[in-house]
Amino acid sequence: MRILIIGAGLAGVTTAWFLQDRGHQVRLFDRQPTAANETSFANGGLLHASHAEPWNAPGVLGQLLRWIGREDSPLLLRPRALPGLMRWGLGFLRYSRPQHYRLGMQRNAALALHSIAVLRELRRELDLRYDDRQNGILKIFRDQQTLDGAVDNSRTMADVGLRHTVLDSRQAVALEPALADCAHELSGAIYFPEDESGDAHLFCQALIERFRRAGGELELQTSVSRMLRKGDRIEGVQTDAGVQTADCYVLAAGSFSTQLAATAGLRLPIYPVKGYSLTAELPDWGGAPAIPLIDDGNKVVMGMLGSRLRMAGTAEFNGFDLSLSEARSDYVLRQCLKTFPSLADRLELADASPWCGLRPMTMDGPPILGPSPLRGLYLNCGAGHLGWTLACGSGQLVADLISGEPPAMDAEAYSLARF
Ligand SMILES: Cc1cc2nc3c(=O)[nH]c(=O)nc-3n(C[C@H](O)[C@H](O)[C@H](O)COP(=O)(O)OP(=O)(O)OC[C@H]3O[C@@H](n4cnc5c(N)ncnc54)[C@H](O)[C@@H]3O)c2cc1C
Repeated sequence: MRILIIGAGLAGVTTAWFLQDRGHQVRLFDRQPTAANETSFANGGLLHASHAEPWNAPGVLGQLLRWIGREDSPLLLRPRALPGLMRWGLGFLRYSRPQHYRLGMQRNAALALHSIAVLRELRRELDLRYDDRQNGILKIFRDQQTLDGAVDNSRTMADVGLRHTVLDSRQAVALEPALADCAHELSGAIYFPEDESGDAHLFCQALIERFRRAGGELELQTSVSRMLRKGDRIEGVQTDAGVQTADCYVLAAGSFSTQLAATAGLRLPIYPVKGYSLTAELPDWGGAPAIPLIDDGNKVVMGMLGSRLRMAGTAEFNGFDLSLSEARSDYVLRQCLKTFPSLADRLELADASPWCGLRPMTMDGPPILGPSPLRGLYLNCGAGHLGWTLACGSGQLVADLISGEPPAMDAEAYSLARF
C-alpha cells in the first residue's frame, strides 16, 4: 500500500518505521525543517511506565481551582483559556471518576510496558543510540499522603505487570546517593526497575535515518492545511506542495491533529497541555542522579542525557500558546535544585536551553490509535505526557492494524470509538 503520514514526531516516525518494515511504501510529511522538532524535541526523556496515571486523578478539579492563574504552581489554568477548554474540560472532569481513572491507568501501563519492550528490541536490532540509559526510574515523595496514593497506584499497575519496590528515605539514598542532601525531606520513594530514559529527539533522528535507508520518503517543510474528504472517505491531503494522495493516511500531528481532523469534520477529544524543560551541561556528572527521578508532588522529572541534565515538568492549560515564560522555566529549575542543591554551582546554567511543548492530551488519558470513522484514515495521536514511553508500541500497533496483522494489544481499548 502507499501510505501517507502527517507529522514526523515520535508518533509519526515510529509508525513510519513499522509500516516501512511491513513492506509498505511510506511518505512522511512534516512542516518543520527536521523531524521531531515540536513536542518530541526536548521532553523529559523518561520512558516511564511507572507514570501511567492519567492527569485527571479524582480531585483534580480542586487542584486546578487552587492553582488558577498562579505562575509558581505545577498546574496552571489561565482564565483566558477557559472558553476553548469547556467541552474537553468537562470530559476531562467526567473521566476523573475513580473507575475511569483506574481503567485509563491500566491501559496506559499495559501499553507502556509493551512499548518499552518493543523499543528494546528495536534498539538491539537497529543498534540505535540516543543517550539511552536502562537503570530504572525512582519516584520520590515529600509527604506521606502523596506516597500512599502512589503506592496504591503502583499496586493497580502491578496488575498489568509493572514491578516496583517501595523504599524509605534511607534506602532511597542507598540506591541513589545524589539524594543525600534532601534525604531529611523525603517521606519515601518507589523504584521501578523496568523504566528507561533517553533523548527522544536523537531517537527520532536515528530511526528516521534507518527509515530513509530502507526506502522511506521524508518530506520536510511541507505543511498540510486540510484533509480532503469525499463522502465517508479521505481522498487526499492539501499541502503547500499541492494535493498529495495515497491508499491510506495516518494522522500523527500531535496537538494539531484536532485542527486537521476538523477539516474533514472529525472531532478528536485532545487538548494541548503545555510543559517546560530546561537542559544544562553537567560535564563531570558531579552530584547528578545516576537514576532518573520523578518528583511526583511537584510534577517535575529530571535525568541525565549524556553529559546534560534534563529537567522537565509543569502543566499549563492555555490553548496553543507556545511563548516561553521565564517564571515557568524557573519553577522547573527551582524544584530540581530543591532535590539536588549542590548542582546550583555545577550546572552550566548560563548556557542552559529552555524549551516548551504541547502535550497532546486526551480527556481520559490513553492515546487514540487505529482506524477512524473515515475510511482510509488512521490515527496515532493523543499520547499526552506519555508520548515517548508509548511511541514504539503505538507505532507498531497502528502499523499492524493497517496491515491487517493481529495487534499485540487489545486495540479497541485505544480506539476513537471508546469515547
Ligand atoms: C515538557 C514535556 C515533558 C515531557 N516528558 C515526557 C517524558 O519524560 N516521557 C514521555 O513519555 N513523554 C513526555 N512528554 C510527552 C511527549 O513528548 C509527547 O507526548 C510526544 O512528543 C508527542 O509526540 P507526537 O508525535 O504525538 O507529537 P509531536 O512531537 O508534536 O509531532 C507532531 C508533528 O506533526 C507536525 N505537524 C503538525 N501539524 C502539521 C501540519 N499541519 N502539517 C505538517 N506537519 C504538521 C509537527 O511539526 C510535529 O513534528 C513530555 C512533553 C512535554 C511537553
